[in-house]
Amino acid sequence: MNDKPAPSLEEISSCVSGYDPNALPVEQAREFIARLVPRVEGVEMLALRSAMGRVLARDIVSDIDVPAHDNSAMDGYALYGSDLAAGGDTVLQVVGSGLAGNGYAGSVAPGQCVRIMTGATMPDGLDTVIPQEFVRQDGDRVVVPAGAVKTGENRRLAGEDLARGDVALSAGRVLRPADLGMLASLGRAEVPVWRRLRVAFFSTGNELRSIGEPLDPGCVYDSNRYTLWGMLQRLGVEVLDMGVVRDDPRALESAFRDAAAQADVVITSGGVSVGEADYTKAIMAKLGDVLFWRIAMRPGRPMAIGRIATGGRSAILFGLPGNPVAVMVTFYALVRDALLAMAGAPAQPLPMLRAASAGAIRKKPGRTEYQRGIVTPAAGGGWEVRITGSQGSGILRSMSQANGLVVLGHEQGNVAAGDPVDVLPFDGLI
Ligand code: AMP
Ligand code: MG
Repeated sequence: MNDKPAPSLEEISSCVSGYDPNALPVEQAREFIARLVPRVEGVEMLALRSAMGRVLARDIVSDIDVPAHDNSAMDGYALYGSDLAAGGDTVLQVVGSGLAGNGYAGSVAPGQCVRIMTGATMPDGLDTVIPQEFVRQDGDRVVVPAGAVKTGENRRLAGEDLARGDVALSAGRVLRPADLGMLASLGRAEVPVWRRLRVAFFSTGNELRSIGEPLDPGCVYDSNRYTLWGMLQRLGVEVLDMGVVRDDPRALESAFRDAAAQADVVITSGGVSVGEADYTKAIMAKLGDVLFWRIAMRPGRPMAIGRIATGGRSAILFGLPGNPVAVMVTFYALVRDALLAMAGAPAQPLPMLRAASAGAIRKKPGRTEYQRGIVTPAAGGGWEVRITGSQGSGILRSMSQANGLVVLGHEQGNVAAGDPVDVLPFDGLI
């Protein structure tokens, strides 16, 4: 992390208008968090393939034209547009041929043309390509029917993809397959990326058992460890999985110190509810500068946020609620974008679908709700969304069955069947 003096939590909260830790609207929570989190420092050069999914640290400026020369977009014949007859066929003499990587180097007189393949450099002065399927061949002549092609068609211009001096990709970009291809088209073997963000996480609660342990009476298996791991993997951060920590002051303190010593971010689940009879909150408060929020959202009301300090270092803390659905929803609604910003990739707004609700949904104004939904194509076009059964915050199956979150905004009231609602789809193609 950088050495700039970080604002205190009080300073940040004074910048967030209408800040109320006991009934914090999601938008204000997001604004607070955006002001809190610093970006990683440190750039590494990576070979192109290793940079897939990583965050570009510098603008990439093209130092060549792509393509480097005017070339043909079709298999056909390259000609002078000025030879095309105004009304009637044009007859041209074929004087040679050009292949991709082995263009025609001779000169071409008016009334002549060159057989040309896709990607072959345009012979000097020729400006138009007629696709081969449009011409009639007659010995060493071709007949171009009237109106089959216009001047300038089927020719790709030098630099039309990337011109020399263009910013091909901007810093902050999460590199995707098309970007790797584009960087390759510029001949770049390596690219500068931000070092990976390190995120440590652990689960808290005496009732939690790890896979492989017997499930004692009153206990549950720790599922948050796996959903969190999965969500973090998808974000491309470096994940330090610290397992389950017992609800014991010494165990918690050493886990927090250990996590904060190694990571930029510490994420915990459980132990932040109001009236919780455990030590998690007390230890968080002891080791750092931490606020305990009640967010106007459902699921996922309680959350701790702040900094945990140890050995002169400080890590950002997200203390998420324990309920399995609440963990996932608070992660997507509040943590995801913050981690991206820390990783150097300020998040872009995610595309939402507008879908007709298949049924009525009860919703109180004054909080944001994230219901789990299954989106399908609607009979009359557009999309329809159906809520996945019970929306209890412990029912992880609702999340697993869903293909998106139905986002019901802060002011929204009840939804009638057929009303349009916003849906955040889980899956994207790229
Ligand atoms: P808490 O926020 O600690 O009060 O936990 C709320 C609920 O979530 C309780 O029913 C916990 O047993 C459950 N829970 C907490 N952590 C986990 C976890 N890691 N995996 C599964 N369930 C959990
Ligand atoms: Mg607990």
